[in-house]
Parts: sequence; structure tokens; C-alpha cells
Amino acid sequence: MARGLAEAGKKVLIVERRKHIGGNCYDEYDEHGILIHRYGPHIFHTNHREVWDFLSRFTEWRPYEHRVRACVDGKMLPFPINPDTLNLLYGLSLDADQMEEYLASVKEKIDTVTNSRDSVISRVGTDLYEKFFKNYTLKQWGIPAEQLHPSVCERIPIRLNRDDRYFNDTYQGMPLHGYTKLFENMLSHEDITVELNTDYANVSGVIESQHVVYTGPIDEYFHHCFGRLGYRSLRFEFKHVSTASFQEYAVINYPNDYDYTRITEYKKLTGQHADSTTISYEYPYDEGDPYYPMPTQANALLYEKYSRETGKMKKVFFAGRLGAYRYMNMDIACLEAMNLVRDILK
Ligand code: UDP
Repeated sequence: MARGLAEAGKKVLIVERRKHIGGNCYDEYDEHGILIHRYGPHIFHTNHREVWDFLSRFTEWRPYEHRVRACVDGKMLPFPINPDTLNLLYGLSLDADQMEEYLASVKEKIDTVTNSRDSVISRVGTDLYEKFFKNYTLKQWGIPAEQLHPSVCERIPIRLNRDDRYFNDTYQGMPLHGYTKLFENMLSHEDITVELNTDYANVSGVIESQHVVYTGPIDEYFHHCFGRLGYRSLRFEFKHVSTASFQEYAVINYPNDYDYTRITEYKKLTGQHADSTTISYEYPYDEGDPYYPMPTQANALLYEKYSRETGKMKKVFFAGRLGAYRYMNMDIACLEAMNLVRDILK
């Protein structure tokens, strides 16, 4: 938004509480010289050409298509579930058509899908739900899938073909020199000033006469006047390993074992060549920086109250995952930001 507004002739001040730009997309070289994502794996993918084109002004791309394995019953299985997953798991030899028949025989008929458990068992039945989704979801969110909006597990498709990519978007890639570099290039404009280590709460009085785009937690902006929205946080345990490769895939999910949900090996995302490698174990937490809005019904109702307040405001706009209180991917955050720039300029 800063770039879009600056290019339209506005002067922009970015107020950032952290000591760096880029939010949770921030990446940096660790003390071993390995490029890591400080706030967990960020993989870029989009079907929106205008988002891809906009970001491509600030970075070249490393062609990268994300592939994940899930460790289930001691086997490393393709995830999202595809015919190979079922064949390896159950010792079958289904082709795509037979997989469809198989799923038809195990999936449960649910007239109205109201939660994430329903959304999975209505597609693949109970056994696959229990092996791949039930415990991962409980670990990730701290509450059972029954209490989460269907859209959470619907992020994961069920594939009737052997395409084992995590995403099948038209545009996929990793910024060639990293996300931080991308954002540095984006913010390199004479009318953009960045104030790091500055809490918006401390300067809001100074800038309240200006137009404000607030990207922090929306309930914090309103001093939690209607109550606190729920957020889920993560803790990353980084480990440097002195072998060139730690695991076969960039991300391996552990739905049923351990307290962490997944292990990421960053070199496999970034394509960096080095004799050693850095991995992270991802532990979901209640406390800490907010990463995810919690898609429960109670939070949706509470958010509505805050949202009604924002509708009354003429000069303050809310954007991003925390401002919009929506579990959106990077490309959608970017698309909505581009649209909001247009709206503000109008
Ligand atoms: N999920 C799961 N098992 C997995 C991976 C994902 O049950 O092996 C569920 C889980 O509820 C998770 C959601 O699907 O929160 C979305 O997964 P995604 O990989 O999109 O999560 P993100 O990368 O955004 O954390």
C-alpha cells in the first residue's frame, strides 16, 4: 500500500513495532549463513496476474513448486491426499477413477457442513480424517476441528490425480533474493519513510489527522472495547545441521507424533547451496505474536462488532490478516491492499 500510495503522489510513513520491515514474511541469513524465514515457511503462489506482476517489479523469482509429505503410520506420504497417498498407505493400486469410487465408499454424507471435521469426512471419511487431519488440527489450533470453520480444512484439496504439488496456482515461486529484499526494493521510494521500533500506540495522536492504514490486530486498535479476539501463535525452534540435506522435502508434516506440526528445511525452499542446512520445528501456541485469526463462530461474531465500527470511520483503513481478521494468504493480502489503494485514492 505504501508503494501504491507513494506512486500516486502521497507521502507515506510506515510505523513498525518490530526492528525490521516485512512483517511475518521477513527472512534473513542466520549465523551460519543460511537464509531462513524467521516467522516460518512462506511460499508464494497466486492465480492473480496483477499481484504477480506487481510483486515482479521488485523481485525476480526462483521457480519453485511446493511439495509436502505427511508422516503417517511411519510412512512419508504425499499430502494433500492423492491416489498415491492411498496406495502407499493402504497397499492399494488405485488409479484416479478408482480413487473416486473409493472415496465415494468411505466419505460420509453430511447435509450441511458446519465445521472443519464435517468438511473433511464429507470428502474422505473418518479414517483419513483421523490419520491426516484430526490431530494436526488439534495441535495447530488447540481446539478440535469440530469448533473450526469449514474453510480451515478446506484449504487442503483432495486430489483425484497424481499431482503432488501443495498448490496448483498459475504463478508459483520464491523471491530470488528473499522476501526482505523484495520489500526493501518496494519501499525504496523517496516519498516512503520507515520508522522501525515504533509502536503505533505511541504515535497515533500525532498522525490521527492523516489517513491511516492499520495492519495490526483490529481489536487492539479499539483497545479491546468489545473483548479480545482469539489468535493463534507459533514458536519456531531453529536448528542448524552440519549435513547438506536434512530431509527430502522442504516441509514434512507430523500430524500424529510430537508436539510440533511440521519441520521445514529452508534451503529446499530458497534453493541456496551450502554444505550445512537449517531447519525449524513449528510449535503452535496460544500466547505470543498473533499469526492466525482463530476461525471460530464466537470470534466471527465478535469481529462483526469491530467491523461495524470500522464502517463508520472515514480516514482509517484496516488491512492484512490481523487488520481484516481473516486467514488469508500472502497473495490475497496483496490483492486486497492493491484494491484498497485504489479505493483510498478515489
Ligand atoms: N491440516 C491438517 N493436516 C495437515 C496439514 C493441514 O489437518 O497435514 C489442516 C490444519 O487444520 C491446518 C489447515 O489444514 O491448520 C490448513 O493447512 P495449511 O497447510 O494451509 O496451513 P498454514 O500453512 O497456513 O499454516
